[in-house]
Parts: sequence; C-alpha cells; structure tokens
Amino acid sequence: MTMDLKGKIALVTGASRGIGRATAISLARAGASVVINYSSNTAAAEAVKKEIEDLGRSALVVRADVADYDQCEHLMKSAIDHFKRIDILVNNAGITRDNLLARMKAEEWQAVIDTNLNGVYNCCRAVIRPLLKQKSGGRIINVASVAGIHGNSGQANYAAAKGGVIAFSRTMAKELGSRNITVNAVAPGLIETEMTEVLSDDVKEQVLSRIALGRLGKPEEVAEVILFLASSANYVTGQVILVDGSLSM
Ligand code: NAD
Repeated sequence: MTMDLKGKIALVTGASRGIGRATAISLARAGASVVINYSSNTAAAEAVKKEIEDLGRSALVVRADVADYDQCEHLMKSAIDHFKRIDILVNNAGITRDNLLARMKAEEWQAVIDTNLNGVYNCCRAVIRPLLKQKSGGRIINVASVAGIHGNSGQANYAAAKGGVIAFSRTMAKELGSRNITVNAVAPGLIETEMTEVLSDDVKEQVLSRIALGRLGKPEEVAEVILFLASSANYVTGQVILVDGSLSM
C-alpha cells in the first residue's frame, strides 16, 4: 500500500488545531505540500506551518471563514496562485452549538448549518472548476460524524449538518467519478480535541462505556484514515468510514 503524496498539494480547512492540524501534519509527512486554512487563531496556524516546514515540506497559511462563499473562493485562489494546483481537499472545519431542540435558538441551528454543511458546499464549489480543469483527478475527504448517521440528543443541528455532508459526499462521488475524483467521508466518534474537552465527565463516562476499545480516539487516528483516503485508496469513493472505536456498533 503506498501512501506517497510527494508532489501533491493538499488543502485542509480548520487546520490550526485538533483533527485538522493532525491531518495537515500527516499529509505533509506523506510528502504533500499543505494549505492550512484557519478562521481565527493566526499563531496556532503559523505553528502548524512551522511544524510542516520542519518536516521539509512547504506550507501556506490562509485565513478564511468557510461559512462565507467569497472567502472560500479567495482561499482556493490563494492556494492555486501559490502552489499552481490543488489535488486534495479535506473539509474538516466544524463547530458545535449543542442544545435540546426545545431550547435550540435559531442562531445555534444556523451557525452549525452554515459552517458544517454550507462550508463543505462552499469549499467544494470554489475548488471544483480548477480541479476539473487540471484533468488529473483528485481527492475530496469530508469530515462528518457518527452523529450524522445515528443522531445524537442535543445535536439536532450538528447531526443534520453531518448527515447532509454524508449525502453530499455520496452525490459528489457520483458526479465526479468519471473525472477520477474520489469523494469520501470519515465519521469520527468521540475524539480528544478542544471540541470535546467541554463535555462533562458524566457524558464522557457514558460514551466510554459504549466504546469497545475503552478510550476516546486521538486526532492522529482520524488523520491516518484521511491519509489513506487521500493517497492509496484509488478505488474507494462515496464511502463513509467510521473512526469511532465501535461507539456506533
Ligand atoms: P476543533 O474545535 O478542535 O477544531 C475545529 C477547527 O475548525 C478549528 O481549528 C476551528 O478554528 C475551525 N473552524 C471552525 N469554524 C470555522 C470556520 N467557519 N471557518 C474555518 N475554520 C473553522 O474540533 P475537532 O474535534 O478537531 O473537529 C474537526 C472536525 O471533526 C469537525 O468537523 C468536527 O465536527 C468533526 N468531528 C469531531 C469529533 C470529535 O469528537 N472531536 C467527532 C466527530 C466529528
């Protein structure tokens, strides 16, 4: 199995921390040059760039809010201006605004849909023409969630967005297969990042009791699966790979 990404250009959204950061580093380790998108923490994004450069790879940091289409166009243009092409897009940026539906404010619903679902559309839409023009295929990997498959109390907004991402990925796989562009999703379970740091010990204990592997996942363990989809998985498209230690089983 070859995981060689030498000469490839990858763009990872929300890459300043968590799963996005681990993915950017893992793609770089496999040889890719990486565009690090971030929304607010410039210092953290620059630190990821330095880590990638220390591996002997190139990196570019571009600030853009994926919920804003114009900013996504600017993001893709900056990437292509700098590296002259793009081969791999990882739509990782995401947020949570958890609440039971009875209490969920319209802003909480909208913010999650805007970032987690519209953000994926915005980035794919902005990259698709240049990608097709290159005529050299490509890889799109969207970070969904097990909540998008099974639902999760308190996450109607998040589950709806992630379920949408899965349906979107399958549709893109059908649209783009003939151009040798694969589109897949990964669906993490509970991963140790700043997103899940805020969960109470009670909630974590409850979830842990349902995980056969008996622990939370690490961002690097999701990144490894994304790397597989971005490199050697030539004949895999329209799939959702669960990275959840059995949580959803
Ligand atoms: P995180 O909060 O540590 O990182 C999310 C990243 O996305 C941050 O860098 C943040 O700045 C960025 N981001 C947020 N909104 C953005 C926007 N509008 N534009 C650009 N960047 C934006 O969380 P994480 O756990 O690393 O999550 C990464 C992805 O994995 C998300 O899509 C999340 O929904 C998904 N996920 C995480 C878990 C988990 O347990 N941590 C489980 C399932 C799915």
